Amino acid sequence: MSLRIVVCVKYVPDATGDRHFADDLTVDRDDVDGLLSELDEYAVEQALQIAEEADDAEVTVLTVGPEDAKDALRKALSMGADKAVHVEDDDLHGTDVMGTSLVLAKAIEKVGYDVVIAGMASTDGTMGVLPAILAERLGVPQVTLLSEVSIEDGVVKGRRDGDTASEQLEASLPAVVSVTDQSGEARYPSFKGIMAAKKKPVESLELDDLDIDADEVGLAGAWTAVDSAAERPARTAGTIVKDEGEGGKQLAEYLASQKFI
Ligand SMILES: Cc1cc2nc3c(=O)[nH]c(=O)nc-3n(C[C@H](O)[C@H](O)[C@H](O)COP(=O)(O)OP(=O)(O)OC[C@H]3O[C@@H](n4cnc5c(N)ncnc54)[C@H](O)[C@@H]3O)c2cc1C
Repeated sequence: MSLRIVVCVKYVPDATGDRHFADDLTVDRDDVDGLLSELDEYAVEQALQIAEEADDAEVTVLTVGPEDAKDALRKALSMGADKAVHVEDDDLHGTDVMGTSLVLAKAIEKVGYDVVIAGMASTDGTMGVLPAILAERLGVPQVTLLSEVSIEDGVVKGRRDGDTASEQLEASLPAVVSVTDQSGEARYPSFKGIMAAKKKPVESLELDDLDIDADEVGLAGAWTAVDSAAERPARTAGTIVKDEGEGGKQLAEYLASQKFI
C-alpha cells in the first residue's frame, strides 16, 4: 500500500517586508508579500526523499492560510509534491496555534496519512510547538526536531541533535515528525517541476468540510490574546569611537556599559 505523507507548510509574511499589526492586533497579512516558510522547505525536501526511497508513496502538502497561501502550495508542488490541500475560511481570522492545530488535525484525518512531516518552527510565529500539539490531537507518537530521518517497515527513525547528546529516536507509524534546518538542503524547483505544478490538484476545504464550528477557531476561539502592540522604535545612529590613541579603551568602556563584557 502506498505510503501517505502529509507535509504541513505555512505561508508566512516576508520577513524582509515592512510588517504591521491590524487594528484588532492580528498581523496585517494583506499588507505584505508572503512566501513558503523557508523552514518548511526542509520538511518538503525530507518528504520527497522518503517518497523516492519508498516503493510507492504520495506526498500531499497542506496549508491553513489565506487565498495567497496557494503560492506556498505551488512552490511545494513545483519541488515535487504530488497534490495539495488548502484550508481557507474567513472565520479563521485571528486563529491561534490551538485553532490552527485543530484545523490541521481534522484536515489530515480527512486526507488520510501514515506520516505527517512539519518544519521545526514557522519563520513568523516561531513557536515550534505545533507539531507536538498536532500529534496529541491525532493521538499518535511525535518524533520532533530531527536532523536525519528515514522510514522503513512501518517505523520512522531519526536523529535529534541536542547541545550535549545526539539521540536516536524511532516510532511506529502513523506518527508526526518535525525536521530541522540541518536535515539537508532543500532542492530548487526545476523548470519542468514548475510547469508540472500548474497541473497538479489543489483541493480547497472550508471549516464546514471539516466539521469545525466558527467559534472553535478565530479570535473567539483563541486561547491567547495580544493585549497591546507598539511600533518598533526607529533606528538611531550608532556610537562612533574615533581612535586618537584611546580608541581601544573607549571601545572597552562602551562594551562594558552595554554589559557585553
Ligand atoms: C488566516 C490566519 C490568521 C491567523 N491569525 C492569527 C492571530 O491573529 N494570532 C495568532 O496567534 N495566530 C494566528 N494565526 C495562526 C498562526 O499564524 C500560526 O499558524 C499558528 O499559531 C502556529 O504557530 P507557529 O507558526 O508559531 O507554529 P510553529 O509551531 O512554529 O510551526 C511549526 C510547523 O508547523 C507547521 N505549521 C504552522 N502553521 C501552519 C499553518 N498555518 N499551515 C500549515 N502548517 C503550519 C509548519 O510545518 C511549521 O514549520 C493565523 C493563521 C492564519 C492562517
